[in-house]
Amino acid sequence: MTAPTFDLTDHVIDGERRAGSGERIDVTNPATGEVIASIPAGTVQDVDDAVTAARRAFGSWSQVPVSERAAVVQRISEGILARRDEIAATISAEMGSPIGFATAVQASLPAFTAAGTAALAETFPWSEEIGNSLVVREPIGVVGAITPWNYPLHQIVAKVAPALLAGNTVVLKPSEVAPLSAGILAEIVENAGLPAGVFNIVHGTGQVVGEAISGHPDIDMVSFTGSTAAGKKVSISAAESVKRVALELGGKSACVVLPDADFAKAAKLGLGNGWINGGQTCTAWTRMLVPADRHEEMLGLLREAAAKYTVGDPAEASTRIGPMSSVNQQDKVNSYIKLGVEEGATVAFGGPDAAGELPSGGAYVQPTIFGGVTRDMRIAQEEIFGPVLSVMPYTDLDDAAEIANSTVYGLAGAVFAADTDSGVAFAKRMRTGQVDVNGGSFNPVAPFGGYGQSGNGRELGRFGLEEFCEIKSIQR
Ligand code: NAD
Repeated sequence: MTAPTFDLTDHVIDGERRAGSGERIDVTNPATGEVIASIPAGTVQDVDDAVTAARRAFGSWSQVPVSERAAVVQRISEGILARRDEIAATISAEMGSPIGFATAVQASLPAFTAAGTAALAETFPWSEEIGNSLVVREPIGVVGAITPWNYPLHQIVAKVAPALLAGNTVVLKPSEVAPLSAGILAEIVENAGLPAGVFNIVHGTGQVVGEAISGHPDIDMVSFTGSTAAGKKVSISAAESVKRVALELGGKSACVVLPDADFAKAAKLGLGNGWINGGQTCTAWTRMLVPADRHEEMLGLLREAAAKYTVGDPAEASTRIGPMSSVNQQDKVNSYIKLGVEEGATVAFGGPDAAGELPSGGAYVQPTIFGGVTRDMRIAQEEIFGPVLSVMPYTDLDDAAEIANSTVYGLAGAVFAADTDSGVAFAKRMRTGQVDVNGGSFNPVAPFGGYGQSGNGRELGRFGLEEFCEIKSIQR
């Protein structure tokens, strides 16, 4: 494995690395508690400088032919792949993803996303005829991008690649918890031949830098991925300048196991998705809905599947669940595990009393499965963002649909059924942005986004590119 060096931690503004005002924010390895790097605590002035650079660069970048912009995005993809191991080790160190997962997903997915975006250049309807109108898609202008820590590079590339392809310029604020892969991306972008000022990074907190981006009068769009609570604040700040807002927020997704489904498969894949990335995944299926008369049977299958998960050092290839991303996240997950017991759920696996078996020294939590969870419980309603699965009994399909749709969220979901058609029929009853039937695999060019308080935009593929375009009608 290539040891990460964390070389580029400063802001990148107008093609220059800037250390900022002097105040810095520590980046901590959650497996050890060790401070591994620091980033500048950006200021409103840093955001202003970045916006000025991005505004100036917009004039020429928006006029570069789309084929040339696509070539840059394609080179970014190649640059990510070339440094995949270093990126994986960096992300694993900053937020605790097990190295196998970090390599296969955290570092690889952004390369596929960028390549898939570049490929859209040829087929995207940049202009089309509607009656006597020529309808053209144009860049929006300066895009502010604010991203979380759970898939730090993927979330960045899902915004930056389509924004650049469409001809926008970007001011990015990465998560202050996991900012280091953004520095590697800055080098990759520079080597891909992007002119200075087109892609800028301002590090810092959400309260200072995030707020300054959302409220900035000279930013035309803010694309935000993170918690629903912060997303609401972004919308409020953005309203003053009527900028376009795209939100990718939290979730509490349901995996619905129909009575005639393959229960063993549903248990294995359902748990795998619920605990993916230590459960720190916006689309994680954190609620499993099962027929009431087969609830105990499912708990048995889940226990068997759960016993195969090793919790440990994320640098070890055999580890399937690493530490939570931070001590804060560890505390939050542990408090929900205690709450589940207080609310009357049964502990089917793990739970608060099993905590002694965990590795010491890191932000580890005990992966937990609760049975007998009802929809009024907070563990059935709130996003826990850890390896905690709530199994919920249902009486019939109407009851299952009602439970599935009973939270404020609507990001993802799953159906396990005897056949694809009945699975798809149930999927259509779910008020959620994506549903996987019988383990249908993630499609990186399908639209991705949420219903309800899970957000209001769509990322990835053609629909993701649409988000970064203005539309103009020219009548002749
Ligand atoms: P968070 O909301 O705490 O932070 C996300 C980003 O927003 C960070 O960069 C943070 O600094 C910034 N921020 C915080 N407060 C802000 C404010 N008032 N104004 C502007 N920016 C602000 O989220 P997190 O803990 O980093 O990430 C986990 C959350 O992200 C979960 O809720 C998860 O579901 C969600 N998420 C959603 C998706 C999706 O695509 N829907 C993907 C990944 C994560």
